[in-house]
Amino acid sequence: MKKAHRLAMIVACMTPLWASSAEWSVRKYQSGGCNVSESISFRIFQKEGFADAALIDQLESHRASLQVKWLGGGTGRSWDPKCDIHIHATPEEFQQATKRSPDMLASTLLEIGEGRVWRRQVAIRGDIQKNFTPVILHEVTHVVLADVFRDFQVPRWLDEGIAVAEEQSDRRANINRQLLEAVEVSRHSDLIELMTMAQFPVDRTRSDVMYAQSASLVEFLLTKKSPVALVSFAKACRHLSVEESLRRHFGFNNAQEAERAWLEWTINTAESSETAVVVNQ
Ligand SMILES: [Zn+2]
Repeated sequence: MKKAHRLAMIVACMTPLWASSAEWSVRKYQSGGCNVSESISFRIFQKEGFADAALIDQLESHRASLQVKWLGGGTGRSWDPKCDIHIHATPEEFQQATKRSPDMLASTLLEIGEGRVWRRQVAIRGDIQKNFTPVILHEVTHVVLADVFRDFQVPRWLDEGIAVAEEQSDRRANINRQLLEAVEVSRHSDLIELMTMAQFPVDRTRSDVMYAQSASLVEFLLTKKSPVALVSFAKACRHLSVEESLRRHFGFNNAQEAERAWLEWTINTAESSETAVVVNQ
């Protein structure tokens, strides 16, 4: 029974571009009481209206650019199965369909195993206004990363770190501020704790710091190696300790040395950003 060997992953995000002029072929029809907009890689389900062409264009472009960046190239074909995106008009509809808290903005369900992805499903609240685009791009980033880690769950810090780093949203500045405040009083996680955590804590403040720290760590490591090399490092962590993987892939003698280097980079980057803002004013 194939299904017994599969692993279901639910990426439950508390929150959580590429412009293209390409015109994706979109088929519009009704199914199960929903309007469906189907493109080469996505099927978007909603009760009212059909998905905007601009949204579909953005999703297809986001998928393609992430595949090049993180997989080292596109898969050369559309997703099979396609990624189903269910847009729920209200928090109550979202809760009823997903059995998740109505305070959440989105949830992604992935079923992987035997070297492939068997199910790609995103649920998102349609009432979240200006946050809608960054959140849906955040969730699609999780779906793309599942193509890299098809037999085991993507390490949580890497999954969320990349998804937040690829969001390009206002939320980033807010959680970065929270990260700097946490760093000032040493309330951030140590590197090994973060890199081995299977789930982020439920506590919103703590989890926000971990989202920000993960994104910051991804960006720091990307100053040293390519995205594909970072993925290789994360895969190596399955078979080696985090410390040994950091030594072999990034040349750090131990986790403390890596953490000191990351902290220094984080603080310096924040200071140079503040300087840039002052200069621009
Ligand atoms: Zn996420």
